[in-house]
Amino acid sequence: VTAAFVPPTRAWADLPGTAIPAVTSGRSLAVVPVGAIEHHGPHLPLRTDALIAERVASAAVDRAVAAGVDAWLLPTIAYSKSDEHHWAPGTLWMEGTTLLDQLVEIGRSIASTPVRSVVFVNGHGGNVALLGWANRELRRRFGLRSFAMPAGIVPAGDGRGTSPDEHGLGIHAGWAETSLVMHLAPDLVAPQLPPRNVPEKIAGMRHIGFNGKPVTFGWTSDDFGPTGVIGDPTGANAAAGADLFERGVTFVAEALTEIDGFEFA
Ligand SMILES: [Zn+2]
Repeated sequence: VTAAFVPPTRAWADLPGTAIPAVTSGRSLAVVPVGAIEHHGPHLPLRTDALIAERVASAAVDRAVAAGVDAWLLPTIAYSKSDEHHWAPGTLWMEGTTLLDQLVEIGRSIASTPVRSVVFVNGHGGNVALLGWANRELRRRFGLRSFAMPAGIVPAGDGRGTSPDEHGLGIHAGWAETSLVMHLAPDLVAPQLPPRNVPEKIAGMRHIGFNGKPVTFGWTSDDFGPTGVIGDPTGANAAAGADLFERGVTFVAEALTEIDGFEFA
């Protein structure tokens, strides 16, 4: 019997299939970046959320591995539940039920290997509720340990703590995302940034809002105007993006370490 060939990578899809049973175990974490291909205003690429999720997850896996965690980076789920941007050219979106099926079926495949833990690292706010749903499906159907987290310190689609004057409403293509892409892929950011588009009336409301406020509401991004921006990209800069990226990688790497030691009881 010859030993399985194992190339020097933590990328699951770069391995030959024969390496999976050789190098993974019940302690391994399957880390799945989840992004989106959706309109992000006139200044950011459609793959903004996929880019951020993949780059943060990849760097965090490397850092967690260096800290002794057996983490593996799975291919990014780029197409996701972007129905709030259905109206905008270039958006490639799935029904929530389609994406749920995909998440469950990826989990089913992982459950057929020695790996017992799946971790979704998410860059798109429209996926948050669905990932919570998928977590329980993977637990109940396949006995997996399943986790979901934002690909950064500012949860996607949240907007808190982004920029002082976005009032917690910089949820899409605003200061944080624009700064991150300026850092990660500066050639893909348009030289002229679109104007501020913060829904100030909602910012002044006590109970209704995006940011953990108790009353939520249905919306599509064109409800807030024609640019597809919800936030204020005008002050974005690459240095802020580098800082957000580093803090995001630190958070995800720390979370992977905590997951490594997680027990229900
Ligand atoms: Zn985004």
